[in-house]
Amino acid sequence: MADFEITIIGAGVVGLAIAERLSVRHSHLLILEKNERYGMETSSRNSEVIHAGIYYKPGSLKARLCTEGRDLLYDLCKQYNITHRKITKLITATTENEVEQLERIASNAEQNGVHLKFLTKEETLKLEPNIRTFGALFSPLTGIVSVHHLMDFFAHSAQEHGAILHCRCEVLAIEYTGTMYNITVNDNGTITTLTSDIVINAAGLQSDIVAAMVGIDVDSAGYRLTYAKGSYFVVVPSKAKLITRLVYPVPQNEGLGVHALVDWGGRLKFGPDVEYLPDRTLNYAVDETKRHYFAESIRRILPSITDDDIEPDMSGIRPKLQRKGEPPKDFVIIHERERGLPGFVNLIGIESPGLTSSPAIARYVEQLLFG
Ligand SMILES: Cc1cc2nc3c(=O)[nH]c(=O)nc-3n(C[C@H](O)[C@H](O)[C@H](O)COP(=O)(O)OP(=O)(O)OC[C@H]3O[C@@H](n4cnc5c(N)ncnc54)[C@H](O)[C@@H]3O)c2cc1C
Repeated sequence: MADFEITIIGAGVVGLAIAERLSVRHSHLLILEKNERYGMETSSRNSEVIHAGIYYKPGSLKARLCTEGRDLLYDLCKQYNITHRKITKLITATTENEVEQLERIASNAEQNGVHLKFLTKEETLKLEPNIRTFGALFSPLTGIVSVHHLMDFFAHSAQEHGAILHCRCEVLAIEYTGTMYNITVNDNGTITTLTSDIVINAAGLQSDIVAAMVGIDVDSAGYRLTYAKGSYFVVVPSKAKLITRLVYPVPQNEGLGVHALVDWGGRLKFGPDVEYLPDRTLNYAVDETKRHYFAESIRRILPSITDDDIEPDMSGIRPKLQRKGEPPKDFVIIHERERGLPGFVNLIGIESPGLTSSPAIARYVEQLLFG
């Protein structure tokens, strides 16, 4: 008999959401996290937006899990008093030409079951008098959530159900014996091996490395990750009240475009940009030389912002399955039974909307494993 029925590798919001869901029916559940605490990587370095599900390809896992996750997340937040706000969002056309593109965005959203309202220039300015606009789309379902509060809820609830959360414990190797998985870990300086019937790889930025540990050729499987950094700048407090909801431009290149966010401290932030990194070093410093580029991007939305009104803030790193310039790829969430690895589930490329999707991802993983 294995030491644990289920081992989850990675205690970010996704691993924790899965642990919370599975711990209700499965008591021998272990979560392994290499850092000192849960949620110290991508899960605490994002925009904290509950996405409505507007941009994702209809039928994709991203579209499906985002819209399902959004509803599940609002329900959870209400039921357990998790800090959140349905702040709403505008996608503003900042030139006449972009007005046409709003239709394309609204039609994609509609296919995902998300209804957006067209607003004229005058209607938009009534909501947000300080922005540049030729008309906008209004998203009533977009919100923000305190990701720390959410992760606290998932972690505590899983532990109340008997799950064990073990931090400072890095998975180094995994071997399938034919009946169970041997997992070798560095447990706070001691190398040891434990066994598990089921392994769920929710290792975020390292999820391809963990997949390779069990013998999967990540290149031929299409699991190799590239890192794309997203930086934020914060606006000086005197201009923080220029907008009251999330305001996005029409997406131009990769990503959703540098957009306006309001954080839990009432600060107005802009970001994230998309910067593909040359290697896999986790360098979160925000490059001060981006100031002018950011100010220009922000002025597309808020013309009164000067270069001196903004300061470098924080950054996060996206685990991308697509290389620079390639079209977006879907989440990989797969039970690797067909590779001869029953009970091994990989979650790879869980970039945005991974936070929004987290409760739906948990439900999906439960279905993959237990039907
Ligand atoms: C800039 C940015 C903005 C974003 N904005 C949004 C947003 O507004 N809304 C939204 O829905 N999504 C957003 N996202 C996406 C969202 O943040 C992620 O999808 C989500 O946090 C992924 O969670 P995770 O648990 O998969 O990964 P992580 O949070 O990275 O957790 C993985 C964990 O695995 C651990 N781990 C790795 N390897 C090992 C190992 N060998 N042994 C033990 N532990 C290991 C790591 O230490 C880490 O704690 C954004 C992402 C970025 C980068």
